[in-house]
Amino acid sequence: EILIYLENVSKCYKNGVNALDNINLQINDGEFVYIIGPTGSGKSTLIKLLDGEEIPTAGTVSVEGIDVGKLKHRRVPYYRRNIGVVFQDFRLLPHMTIFENVAFALEAIGKDKVSIRRRVREVLELVDLSDKAKSFPNQLSGGQQQRATIARAIANKPKVLIADEPTGNLDPEKSNEILELLEKINVEEGTTILMVTHDITLVNKYKKRTISLEQGNVSADSAKGGYIR
Ligand code: ADP
Ligand code: ADP
Repeated sequence: EILIYLENVSKCYKNGVNALDNINLQINDGEFVYIIGPTGSGKSTLIKLLDGEEIPTAGTVSVEGIDVGKLKHRRVPYYRRNIGVVFQDFRLLPHMTIFENVAFALEAIGKDKVSIRRRVREVLELVDLSDKAKSFPNQLSGGQQQRATIARAIANKPKVLIADEPTGNLDPEKSNEILELLEKINVEEGTTILMVTHDITLVNKYKKRTISLEQGNVSADSAKGGYIR
């Protein structure tokens, strides 16, 4: 079943830069996909089109049958509930505990207290941070903070998890842990995962479909993955 569908998508910024040039992509429900490519190849732009931050200049971006480029401004926050995003630099709220950071994401969408507590416990268990629920972000290691941001991103069971360089600040051992956690979420929660990465070691170790961008074009899309060049 197709979840993400890009048809003849181009994005030209106001300064005339053609960040994406007539892209066609299809990503099925439940896939785990790497997006690789040099700086400036269009990776961030692709993510911004998917989460509704930017609108394509031409073509159609469709996620779960929703034409993202045609969403009314006020619908974008509701649409984003289908998409979890994890960044390289964690972005946890420093004055809230790990439990509160995850709960906050659910309070923001109006869930009731009992189901919030249940789900926060469940996702902290999933990312193996149950014992850190009462800790503050600065009391956690980098790897633990990244696991907490992943817990927060998946708390409301989004269809898609976009991880933008999630291992960019982590050593190889912690990077492997994050990759294995994302695999677990992919299998156990059925979440479709798009991971932007520069980490060729990871891409070669955990082989998955790999989409390569170069100068705004899809230069390779290999089902078996691994780094080709
Ligand atoms: P990354 O490699 O992580 O995408 P970049 O340095 O390419 O980092 O971009 C960082 C941010 O700055 C992105 O959100 C991108 O959209 C924005 N950006 C990049 N290039 C430009 C530009 N020429 N003008 C305005 N914003 C830009
Ligand atoms: P990547 O994430 O692969 O580094 P980006 O999508 O950030 O690539 O950038 C693709 C191209 O678009 C680059 O040439 C970048 O400078 C340009 N760009 C990105 N964001 C903006 C923006 N907001 N305004 C103008 N140019 C941008």
